[in-house]
Amino acid sequence: MAFDYDLFVIGGGSGGVRAARVAAGETGAKVGLAEMDRYGGTCVIRGCVPKKLMVFASAFPGMMEDAREYGWTVEAGGLDWKAFHARLAGELDRLEGIYRKLLAGPGVETFDARARIKDPHTVELSTGQTVTAKHILIAAGGRPVRPDVPGAELGLVSDDIFHMDALPNNILIVGGGFIACEFACILKGMGANVTLFYRGDQILRGFDDEARDLVAEEMRRKGIDIRTGTNVAELSDGYGGVLVKDTNGAEMVYEKVMFATGRSPNTHDMGLEEVGVELGRYGEIVVDAYSQTKVPSIYAIGDVTNRVNLTPVAIREGMAFVETVFRGNPTPVDHELIPSAVFTQPELGTVGLTEEEAKKQEEVEIYSTSFRPMQTSFIDRADKVLMKLVVSKATRKVLGCHIVAPQAGELIQMAGIAVKMGATKEDFDRTVAVHPTMSEELVTMRAPVR
Ligand code: NDP
Repeated sequence: MAFDYDLFVIGGGSGGVRAARVAAGETGAKVGLAEMDRYGGTCVIRGCVPKKLMVFASAFPGMMEDAREYGWTVEAGGLDWKAFHARLAGELDRLEGIYRKLLAGPGVETFDARARIKDPHTVELSTGQTVTAKHILIAAGGRPVRPDVPGAELGLVSDDIFHMDALPNNILIVGGGFIACEFACILKGMGANVTLFYRGDQILRGFDDEARDLVAEEMRRKGIDIRTGTNVAELSDGYGGVLVKDTNGAEMVYEKVMFATGRSPNTHDMGLEEVGVELGRYGEIVVDAYSQTKVPSIYAIGDVTNRVNLTPVAIREGMAFVETVFRGNPTPVDHELIPSAVFTQPELGTVGLTEEEAKKQEEVEIYSTSFRPMQTSFIDRADKVLMKLVVSKATRKVLGCHIVAPQAGELIQMAGIAVKMGATKEDFDRTVAVHPTMSEELVTMRAPVR
């Protein structure tokens, strides 16, 4: 049977664009792609990229304060949000243009449309067109979700933050994960008063406890009001803002409320279950190690599968899909030892097992040091960084590395190579320190602390 396309991709984010352009450009496949919003997806348009630019923007007041302490005469003014925002919008337009070109170059045909699956080889588009394809790849991503509380629609989600007309003077952020903590630091740095409600005992659940504690301590030191054991009970319009009743019975008015309470896979109303694609309990598409769904011609990658929801992982999954389906080389995706970073201030970089996870698995030695970095101890700032290794007693392998420090995202990328290679504590030790740096501590910790 002749199909319109060898591959039709649903979703023009990081994973979908990579799979489409590699399949078309390197294997000669005829490829179509539908995107209902902007090309580049969550990461480029309403996630990693604009977020990181906001991290940069928010760091200047701290730098100016430090500069003064170092002897510079610096006049600190406020942030001109409109100017920053206009530049940010321009940058996103530029990047979206690049993504469109990346697809057009190798001849991928794009459709600015929402797609729905009609049968295992047919996709219906919101433009009224119907296309057929030998393989369909779903890379539709995810979206932020609001909790089920009265008045939840009064709260913003991360997508909305990039479209604010003005910076709020005060904001309540609900949640304690990546997005909540990153935006708490960004908005505080930009000048807002920030309160963060987290329903559990400590923010950043799932990360190493010592690292979580230090990030929380540093966020509080910057003036972020973190309230653990607290959630929103009800929101209503009032007093020129949002009146929030919390689960401890207190009431407070915030100019804005932002929910960072998790994300949900974009699988609703796509015709998936009707054609036999299995969905999991969070609405994610269930796939095997090769990203294949229960319907042999339909594959899925990225956040829509809710495996490890990170851009570089979606890209890896896209590449493995092309290798498997278009190069005849079945390639499972390696989801082990993925380094990642939370772009709080300071950042948290992590790879491998936390101390808590490792201890459940085997006997471990913990090498950990927390200290005041040279750059800021010079000006008597009380901030601290953390360098930590979790080491297997039996194999001596470094099972986990956790860094809380400025630029921890950059540092963990390098440490991630060593950990992925299976480096032992002794391999770290025989590496000569780069002095004076913060990360030299990773190769100079002599005795375990536990
Ligand atoms: P996370 O899953 O990281 O965090 C969600 C937070 O919301 C948790 O603290 C959770 O609490 C809390 N929560 C969930 N439901 C409710 C509720 N009903 N009421 C109150 N609190 C609730 O999701 P994010 O939205 O922060 O980020 C989504 C994903 O995006 C991340 O997991 C990550 O994979 C990716 N991401 C990565 C970034 C990076 O690499 N730097 C940056 C941003 C996002 P609890 O812990 O109790 O469950």
